[in-house]
Amino acid sequence: MALGRREFLKGAGTCVGGASAIALGFAPPKAFAQETRQYKLLRAKETRNNCTYCSVGCGLLMYSLGDGAKNAKPSIFHIEGDPDHPVSRGSLCPKGAGLVDFIHSDGRLHYPSYRAPGSKEWTRISWEEATDRIARLLKDDRDKNFIEKNEKGETVNRWLSTGMLASSAASNETGLLDFKFARSMGMLALDCQARLCHGPTVSALAPTLGRGAMTNNWVDIKNANVVLIMGGNPAEAHPVGFKWVMEAKIRNGAKVMVVDPRFNRSAAVADFYAPIRAGSDGAFLLGVINYLLTHDQIQHEYVRSYTNAPFVVREDFSFHEGLFSGYDAEKRSYDKSSWAYERDAQGYAVVDPTLQNPRCVINLLRQHAARYTPEVVAQLTGTPEKDFLHVCETLAATSAPDLTSTILFALGWTHHTNGTQIIRTAAMIQLLLGNVGMAGGGLNALRGHSNIQGYTDLGLLSLRLPGYMNLPKDSQQTLESYMQAVVPHADEPGQVNYWHNTPKFFVSLMKTLWGEHATPTNNWGYDWLPKWDRSYDMLAYFEMMHQGKVNGYIAQGFNPLAAMPDKNRIRESLSKLRFLVTMDPLDTETSNFWQNEGTYNDVKPEDIQTEVFRLPASCFAEENGSIVNSARWLQWHFEGAKPPGDAWNDGHIIGTIFTKLRALYAKEGGAYPEPVLNMQWNYRAPEDPTPEEVAKEANGYALADITDDKGKVVVRRGELLPDFAVMKDDGSTASFCWIFAGSWTQAGNQMARRDNTDTGLGTTPGWAWAWPANRRILYNRASLDVQGRPWDPKRQIIAWDGERWGGADVPDYPLTSPPNSGVGPYIMHSEGVGLLFAGGDKLVDGPFPEHYEPTETPVLSSALGKTALRNPAARFYADEKPRMGNPTEYPYVATTYSITELFRHWTKHSRINAIMQPEQFVEIGDKLAGKLGINAGDMVRVSSHRGYIEAKAVVTKRLKRLSVMGKDLDQVGVPCHWGFKGAARKGYLANTLTPGIGDANSQTPEFKAFLVNVEKV
Ligand code: SF4
Repeated sequence: MALGRREFLKGAGTCVGGASAIALGFAPPKAFAQETRQYKLLRAKETRNNCTYCSVGCGLLMYSLGDGAKNAKPSIFHIEGDPDHPVSRGSLCPKGAGLVDFIHSDGRLHYPSYRAPGSKEWTRISWEEATDRIARLLKDDRDKNFIEKNEKGETVNRWLSTGMLASSAASNETGLLDFKFARSMGMLALDCQARLCHGPTVSALAPTLGRGAMTNNWVDIKNANVVLIMGGNPAEAHPVGFKWVMEAKIRNGAKVMVVDPRFNRSAAVADFYAPIRAGSDGAFLLGVINYLLTHDQIQHEYVRSYTNAPFVVREDFSFHEGLFSGYDAEKRSYDKSSWAYERDAQGYAVVDPTLQNPRCVINLLRQHAARYTPEVVAQLTGTPEKDFLHVCETLAATSAPDLTSTILFALGWTHHTNGTQIIRTAAMIQLLLGNVGMAGGGLNALRGHSNIQGYTDLGLLSLRLPGYMNLPKDSQQTLESYMQAVVPHADEPGQVNYWHNTPKFFVSLMKTLWGEHATPTNNWGYDWLPKWDRSYDMLAYFEMMHQGKVNGYIAQGFNPLAAMPDKNRIRESLSKLRFLVTMDPLDTETSNFWQNEGTYNDVKPEDIQTEVFRLPASCFAEENGSIVNSARWLQWHFEGAKPPGDAWNDGHIIGTIFTKLRALYAKEGGAYPEPVLNMQWNYRAPEDPTPEEVAKEANGYALADITDDKGKVVVRRGELLPDFAVMKDDGSTASFCWIFAGSWTQAGNQMARRDNTDTGLGTTPGWAWAWPANRRILYNRASLDVQGRPWDPKRQIIAWDGERWGGADVPDYPLTSPPNSGVGPYIMHSEGVGLLFAGGDKLVDGPFPEHYEPTETPVLSSALGKTALRNPAARFYADEKPRMGNPTEYPYVATTYSITELFRHWTKHSRINAIMQPEQFVEIGDKLAGKLGINAGDMVRVSSHRGYIEAKAVVTKRLKRLSVMGKDLDQVGVPCHWGFKGAARKGYLANTLTPGIGDANSQTPEFKAFLVNVEKV
């Protein structure tokens, strides 16, 4: 039902509004509050949970009623913030405060339903019918299309004609089952929301720092002296996490700076705002690097000791005209052999601690960044030069060892064809300033969905395995060849080089996957893993679907019609499927892609032959399990009520289909049944595994007594592993995800811990559990100098006591390696240091970052005077080329974004959120509006070369006209939340406008910079 604000207030009186006001923290006077609470919560059951929307992971108290009698189901009637939660401290933003309306949304699905080919309607079916039919469809398609050998005769064991999208709001335990389900069948087209969200964060931060995650945590933001918010808008998208920015500002005197195309809500409370052209962030940040190096404002000792600045690069590495050495224009890719260090006689990298060698990384970087002068930056970005210089000067001040800046970013950086390089540049700035590893420093990648971090950790991406290991490729035919390729050799003597432990993590994974079937003689079941020839990420797979090469697709908690770029083409792709299975609490646009919704979805159902199964799933409030917040905290939550009607938990759905599929293979045989039948699925109820048994499996067990170097038994057979340090590569340990080892130990469920004691600087190691090893600030050894003295005694988080490292946080370092041992703090890198130059295979488009224009850009010749204007290594399908627009027809730059009251396409199903933002709008700068004769409230059409949307115009000064390369440029803001399903008024899917091209390294689509035209309707 669609309700307007006025109708709602008339119908609801003050009741719902009052409850939500309390949840938002606007408590009424005390006496009234006490009376209301006692009455309202009397006999209620309290259950703890976490908000299902963004990755701040706010704590919730859910109240339900139900007397426990048979058939009397508890129902959740009130949700408020958990005052004990160290991040949210009782607060909820408008999304979290509206969660009751999400749980009880009219859009919740109660029964499985089916849409026959060509039909215009849904019909109700039983779970038995649905799961029987889906298991049969999966098996038939797999049997027909399974590929055992490639054209070279290599064993590949993959199935490409059916794929799966996994949710990023479901629990880790569901994610583990998803992985086993999909990979046992040989699916390579397994992806999750991370592909559409923070993929570039991982592909940027891992090569630069060693891990692809947020380095610090929400509360730690309060320790910063400077906060740069760029590529994100946390005041709107992560409102409760943003309180720690305000804390830094109010209590720490921090200077908060926002650089964004819009003067957004973060900017409204910042100390400084600079506008920027959407898509030019890379040029801005390279300009900052140039400023820091030319003004010599870097943390010298940190840079010399903790980065690869002194490493010497090979003579044949070069950069000309926007291209690095080794470029093959035909293949649009690089031969990266020259992106490497000089080697000495022992094979170690040559290092010049004096930094005098002109081939030292720092000298090459200086030369590389020198082109990004303030004048060039201003021309490319539209940011006034004085504003740019202000940002540079403010950041540069934190090169002092006792000052830190932190950088907060989100999708404003990831959603670009150049996203990885943008984020990498930011990480390099922080290395140059000596801000990584410090309290109040780091790169705070603000994740989107509540468990997108967990699903990334669990390897639910086309070419990944759990714990950031890679799935083997075709050429890695043996376990030995795989290990040779993935285990890094030592670049420097004496470094931790933690990935040398990969065999232990890999074999422990294989023991979890195949159980007793994984033995040394069959290389732990290595052949049962599918091998890849290329990426089957979402963009690639929907391209295959459009070509008619895909038969089946499963979308679990995912709405690709609304989430993928170029909606009209996505709809055409889905129309070519034989079957689509959706598993979701809500009635999504994707499950209804075949329905005619007039101008919002103009299709002929009778022409669409896809059969669709719409399976109702539980939501966050109706399950136990863990999710991982942005700061890597695994937080356990509890079921407060049963799902509505006949909806099932995701694990129950996956477990039932998989059990039926296995039964079919056991009975009938079929294509390569071994991995399906050998997959370890030994749960007490195989069709409905419990979250607790799955969580323990993710942590891992000892399969034999584990001894230390001296032969002493440290873990007994059958016990849960205490951490990943005890893992073995001889089959005596099993762990699904090595970085989760320690989350559920013999001492119990560490994820459910609730000790919020602050051990210093806002660190709360007793609350939940963070990977890896419960560390809250990554690379924290870099907060002290080589001798072990803190750069800033006021923010010391770890210390050496003469024998071991300890302190407020868990040291991210070997506990007994003393100061001056020469062991570097970046323990995941073979060099032991942070990488300003990331050579080898780490990145596809260059070991140094470079600014390239978005695919659709108003800039046709660069101020950098180079020939490679756009990213030369970005993948570009031939069919996409005709769908790209030019600045003559589409003269304005558009960017999509989120607003505070709504979360992606879910909250429009929640009545209170739909009331707060009932109708689609776009933002247009006042100068552009004046030029086009558009007034506030007029309907406008925004069109790209791929389609159009129509929405109300918000005319604003928030979007300034910029001067880019000597010409005026106007930008258009397109919030992304509406669609043709939900409680809000029907609207257009904003992704109708956006181009189907992705970041060169991660294939995360470009949603933040594209060309449009605007007309008054
Ligand atoms: S949406 Fe994010 S900030 Fe808002 S309540 Fe949920 S977790 Fe907290």
